[in-house]
Amino acid sequence: MQEIAIIGGGLAGLTAAITAAEGGAPVRLAEAHAELGGRARSADGPYKANLGPHVIYKDGPLWAWLRERDLLPPSAGTPLGGIRVRWDGELRRTPPLASIPTVLRLRGRDAPIDRSFRDWVRDHSDERTAAMLSAAGGVYTFHHDPGELSAAFVWPRTVRALLNPPPVARYVIGGWSALVGTLAARARALGVRIETGARIEELPAAPVIVATELADARRLLGDDALRWPSGSTVCLDLGLRHHRGDPFVVSDLDEAGWVERFTAADPSLAPDGEELVQAQMPIRPGETADGAATRLERLLDQALEGRRERETWRRRQVMQGRSGALDMPGTTWRDRPAVDRGDGVFLAGDMVAGPGLLSEVAWASATEAARGALALVHRSGPPQRTVART
Ligand SMILES: Cc1cc2nc3c(=O)[nH]c(=O)nc-3n(C[C@H](O)[C@H](O)[C@H](O)COP(=O)(O)OP(=O)(O)OC[C@H]3O[C@@H](n4cnc5c(N)ncnc54)[C@H](O)[C@@H]3O)c2cc1C
Repeated sequence: MQEIAIIGGGLAGLTAAITAAEGGAPVRLAEAHAELGGRARSADGPYKANLGPHVIYKDGPLWAWLRERDLLPPSAGTPLGGIRVRWDGELRRTPPLASIPTVLRLRGRDAPIDRSFRDWVRDHSDERTAAMLSAAGGVYTFHHDPGELSAAFVWPRTVRALLNPPPVARYVIGGWSALVGTLAARARALGVRIETGARIEELPAAPVIVATELADARRLLGDDALRWPSGSTVCLDLGLRHHRGDPFVVSDLDEAGWVERFTAADPSLAPDGEELVQAQMPIRPGETADGAATRLERLLDQALEGRRERETWRRRQVMQGRSGALDMPGTTWRDRPAVDRGDGVFLAGDMVAGPGLLSEVAWASATEAARGALALVHRSGPPQRTVART
């Protein structure tokens, strides 16, 4: 039987490998980095800061898929206290009360594809509420102005990520590398041959699943059309000595930034007596990363009392086009680069045509890519299913 080749060992590549191997095909996965996980890797050392993903949503398909296979890593729920918002330059305990009737009115409504989120909210309320709700989307869009995105993109994600009572976000204990380890073990148990430190420069023979970031796929496939809007943001990860009264989350309703103390959910992410804080500020058009970082430092000064004197560790990253797909008005996930490229080549990742929130897109496109590749290798007969619990 033909082997399915997978390029990239992040969440998408590992999902595709497991799905293809469960379907009975021989699978080989090549990962350029020395370690698996891609953006889902956590830092080595005492501060387990994730490179990309932070939370996994337990109402989503990725969670259900993991649970079905007994692959869910230990996780923690969302701490209920310590939430603050920055609004009109002030740190507050509640969002503007005037916005609540609008949120209640919009809940359960289908937002239109062809209107911007800001315009749609303004139709139902006022400019201030539209600006506030737009900026709240910064946490999962990593975009300086989520209000300009399609209302159908922003609203359901805002409801899932921020307005669900009780919250559906779960924190992987020990960081996302724990989940990557579980997925890799499952893939190996199914017979997937995994090679790390193996950068692929030329497309191998089909069937092949390219599970890299879109820019890498563009180069590998030599297809300049593989483009889609994404966020651009400065991320700062900080180790801080513990201070009673530090908030858990600060949602920045002025500038679409976000500050989160991850040790509030999982104290194992930092050494005893210390906190791990991860924060991000989207970069505005024409602004430098340093400019956005300066705005982020100001937000952190407001959010965390005496934090400069308490700092024990820091890491700064600029995430340009690396935080998932964004749909502009008039477009949906179906308009993104298609999974099936023809001739036995498939794309998977968080910038291609798949539904869901953040890494769920990588998962959804990876399962579709694997099904497509399986259909090719099983042309002569129906696929065998070998789903077994580990
Ligand atoms: C700041 C930030 C915060 C985020 N927060 C969340 C969150 O809270 N929840 C959530 O669900 N998602 C979140 N995400 C999104 C999530 O990180 C991604 O959707 C997910 O990790 C994408 O996985 P992937 O496998 O598609 O891509 P990647 O993880 O990028 O994997 C691609 C892999 O391909 C490899 N590769 C590239 N080129 C080659 C080559 N030529 N040969 C071999 N290998 C190659 C790379 O080394 C890499 O390992 C966040 C992202 C960012 C940036």
